[in-house]
Parts: sequence; C-alpha cells; structure tokens
Amino acid sequence: MTDSTKTKQSEEPGSPPASHFIKTLISQDQKSGKYGGRVQTRFPPEPNGYLHIGHAKSICLNFTIAAEYGGQCNLRFDDTNPAKESQEYVDSIKDNIRWLGFEWDEEVRYSSSYFDTLFKFANQLIASGHAYACSLSPEQAREYRGTLTEAGRNSPDRDRPVAESLALFAKMRAGEFAEGEYSLRAKIDMASPNINMRDPVLYRIRHISHHQTGDQWCIYPTYDYTHCISDALEGITHSLCTLEFEDHRPLYDWILNSLNLESIRAASVLADSESPYVLPEQTEFAKLKLNYTMMGKRNLRAMVEEGIVSGWDDPRMPTIAGMRRRGFTPGALRNFCESVGVSRSEGVVDLGMLEHAIRDDLDKNAPRAMCVINPLRVEIDNIPEDEVIQLRLANHPKDEAMGRREVPLTREIFIDRSDFETDPPPGFKRLIAGGEVRLRGAHVIKCHHVERDSRGEVVLLRCSADLDTLGKKPEGRKVKGVIHWVSASQGKPVTVRLYDRLFRVENPEAKDIDDYRDCLNPDSLIEVSSAIVEPSVLKGSNERFQFEREGYFCKDVDPTATGRPVFNRTITLRDSWAG
Ligand code: ATP
Ligand code: MG
Repeated sequence: MTDSTKTKQSEEPGSPPASHFIKTLISQDQKSGKYGGRVQTRFPPEPNGYLHIGHAKSICLNFTIAAEYGGQCNLRFDDTNPAKESQEYVDSIKDNIRWLGFEWDEEVRYSSSYFDTLFKFANQLIASGHAYACSLSPEQAREYRGTLTEAGRNSPDRDRPVAESLALFAKMRAGEFAEGEYSLRAKIDMASPNINMRDPVLYRIRHISHHQTGDQWCIYPTYDYTHCISDALEGITHSLCTLEFEDHRPLYDWILNSLNLESIRAASVLADSESPYVLPEQTEFAKLKLNYTMMGKRNLRAMVEEGIVSGWDDPRMPTIAGMRRRGFTPGALRNFCESVGVSRSEGVVDLGMLEHAIRDDLDKNAPRAMCVINPLRVEIDNIPEDEVIQLRLANHPKDEAMGRREVPLTREIFIDRSDFETDPPPGFKRLIAGGEVRLRGAHVIKCHHVERDSRGEVVLLRCSADLDTLGKKPEGRKVKGVIHWVSASQGKPVTVRLYDRLFRVENPEAKDIDDYRDCLNPDSLIEVSSAIVEPSVLKGSNERFQFEREGYFCKDVDPTATGRPVFNRTITLRDSWAG
C-alpha cells in the first residue's frame, strides 16, 4: 500500500479506505453486520480461452478486496458450456492468477461440481411451480420470446402439471431425448420488459462430454441458473461482475429467492457454521477497455487459429500469457489495474497508461546492459589485438545496490549503424568521420578512417581511443554524444524481436470496420537476428534488461531453431505513439 492510500481516513476503524463505490458498499455491509462481517468474493472465469488484461482487472479487484477486508476469494471455473471449454484453458488460467501474485481460498472450485445440487434445486423449482419442461424448439422459443418493444407469448407447455414436468426432466437427464427436444424453463413473466425474465432456459440437453464430469451428464445448466446458486453454495457475499450482467441481476435474485433458503444454506459451505445465512448480492462495474487492443475471446481465438499471431501467448496478444512473455511484470499489471480504478461508467483507457506502468516498473527494476541491434564494426587502433579491458559498470544509474558487472572492451567492437553518419543531419551528436563520441562507460573515441565495401556501404570505422578519458572529461574540448557498444570478440549473438502495437487503429472492433484483419499493424513484429549483447546478459539469472538506448527487453522462453537466445522488446524507452 502506498503512503497516500494509508493516510486517507477509513470509515470504520480496521477497515480499508473506501476508494471506489464497491469498497463503499462493502464497508457499509461491514458496518451493518449484514454478512456477520464476512467478505467472500470469487473470480469466475469460463475456461473457454486464455485470460486477457480485462480479466486481470477483475482478478485484482476480487482478490484485493478480499484481502483488504480480511476475507477470501475463490477461484471458480464457470464451466457450464463444455462445447467450448477445455483443460488447457483451466491450467493456463490457474497459472496466470498465480503469476499475477494471487492465491485463491482452498481448492479450485468448479460450477460442474455442483451439478448434483443444481439438478436437485431444479426439481425443487419445478415442484414449487417455478419451472416447467418446455417442448418448444430453440427456434420456436426465440419466436415466442418477443422483442424489446413487444411482449413475448406463453409457451403452450407453461401450465404443464408439475408431475409431468418432473417426469420429463428426469427423462431429459436420463438421456431419453435428442438435443433441443425439451428444455427446462423458469416460469416468470413472458411480458416482462426485461427479456432475461421471459421464462429463461435453466437446462438444455447437450449430448457432449465435459472436461470435468466426463459423460455423467447430458443436460447442462445455463450460466444464469448456475452462477447465482454457485455463489450461494460457496457463501459468496459480494458477487462482482461486469455491467453487461446488470439486466441479469433480477434473474439472479429471482432464482435464489424462489428456492427454499434453508435448503440452500444446508447445501452451502456455511451449513455447519454459526454465521447467519444471507444470500449473495451481485454488483456490477464497468469493463476495462483499452484502445489499440481487441479483447473479445472469439476474435482472439480466431487470430490464434488463423496464425495471425503465433499463439495465445504471442507477445503481441492482450492475454496475460502474452504480456508475461513480452516481459510485463505482475507488479506493473497490478499497478495498472489499480490506477484505472473501478466505476460504473464505460470508458476506453489509453494503452499509453499500461505502457507507462510497465516503463515505470522496469525503469526502477531492470538492470542496464548493452545490446547492439544493427552492428557496425569499429577498430580501436590503440588497443592491442589481444587485450581485454574489464570495465566495471553500474547495473543501474540510480541504484548502486543493484551492483556492477564486468564489461569487456577490446580492440574490435560493434556500435549501432544508426550511431554513425557520413552525412549527419543538423544537431547529430553521435559519431561522424573525423568526429568524437564517448562509448558508454568507457573512453572517448575518434573516427579517422571510414572503410566501405564495393557497393559503397560503410563496413568498418577505424578509430583511436583517448586513453585518458576513462571516467574523465576529455581535455580542452567537449564531447557531447554517448553511444552504446559491445566487444566483437566477447559479445554474444542473439535474436531480438521488436514488438509494437498489433493494430494501427484505436478500435479494431468498431462498427464501421468490416474486418479487424484490415487494421493490423504490419510492423508489429520485426525480427532481427544480427544483434550482439555484452556477455553478462547471458550469464546471470536476470530475464529483464534495459538495453541502453534501445528499450526494455525480456529473454524469451524459446530460443530460435539455431539455439540463439531470443530477447523480446517489452517496450521502447519512450512513447513513440504519443501525438
Ligand atoms: P471475454 O469474452 O472478453 O473473454 P468474458 O466475460 O466472456 O470475457 P469470463 O471468463 O466469463 O469472460 O470472465 C470472467 C470474469 O472476468 C467475469 O466476472 C467478467 O465479468 C470479468 N471480465 C471479463 N472481461 C472483463 C473486462 N474487460 N474488464 C473487467 N472484467 C472483465
Ligand atoms: Mg463469459
């Protein structure tokens, strides 16, 4: 916690400061003793894809709130649609949450582990006249549902006797019907202005196996039916979700209130506890939206399947796996999620804010090193052929505690091609023929001869070092430029991948854009295999570096086919998109 948040006055001694409306609400509930002082949240992903930065916001919110109020946060897979879900997604989601720095309460939960209870409760709803077996096909049901301006019509099965619905539901479960032949529907109000309340489906027949329950079930409960009951069974107090569920809240409450409260309590984790049993409440907040970023799982999956990106963890993806591989840190992502705040108004956050959070973290924490991306050979003629001068350079200009490293200087070094100009533009402070420049952490060198190949391209600079300039200003003249360099004989070849934003437009999913594929940034990945790093980079256990003057880089998990290490550019040193 930062000092500024510590000094804000909290409403209740011992409770954290209410910095957004959800905390205000929870603080009030704490004060009134509504849940007996308990705070239990949950993060409920559907395992149908990899988590993205929007999910990170929800994760941070749920876990942080639980921690701040001395409560717990569950991880519950909302796995009611087996057709789109898989164990691969379950595993990646768990891994992502831990990487972000959070740990869920006790074991992982699955909505599917409540299938028995959900089935029992469905029977209870039928028995109490709150649900019925309906034979309308999905198409017919859609037609009967009405529109935003027109009331729906009652299903001909709506008044089916309870005993008949119970028998049909049992047969649905026993696999006696084909998909779509029957469904179980709540009996609410076909004229409700809220379409979610027009006798919504609670169960569908699906003859498919499930990643957790195998072939035990051929009927699957809907999200709306499952979510509220799962919350209630887990003793969730505050069920936080995004705004698109606002119109589902009446259904959430209707289902829980239509069930017998004592039977919910008896099936819940609080069955044996002294705590009062109070039903959970849903509260909505605005989704995180980021410009230049596409977050819908459907489109992200399409990009993976079509090979537009190399996988869910492609460093250009807005997924947590991609950002991790790109070199983003968990702390920077958490800070970003905190800084965007929690509100009920939908706004688009500038990607620059996320990039700022990353730069801020890496500027403080990434050790400095040198990497020459487009090498140009330089020969320093007054350093003998086999001499290796070991310089000890600070790993961080402002943090001596980060230590020093040895950087070898030899007769032949590489500098970046862009740091030498034969025809310098005005104000050019780096190396020119006949000019001087300082090598970062080393001497001032002067270029006295430029060698070209047969096509006229510069291939070698012959220079000499002023050996009296190590850690000292040169005498009688000013040398302004400082450039990075790497020893030719001691440096190590690496591949660098220079990443940029995946899209060139702010909103690739805007209505007036036919296809987001037309808006891809052609320069979102540039791979350079000629780069050279100073030897220390490959020695220690560090993965993230600021390559001086080039940007922040992170060692990739996979080397190239040639075995050469790969460094992903996490972010440039400055924002090149700011207009
Ligand atoms: P998407 O289709 O974009 O992947 P989703 O809502 O279908 O999102 P879920 O797995 O159902 O994905 O989401 C798990 C939780 O994350 C939900 O509580 C959901 O409200 C929340 N969430 C999803 N997207 C965002 C977002 N952009 N900002 C904040 N929370 C989000
Ligand atoms: Mg969803």
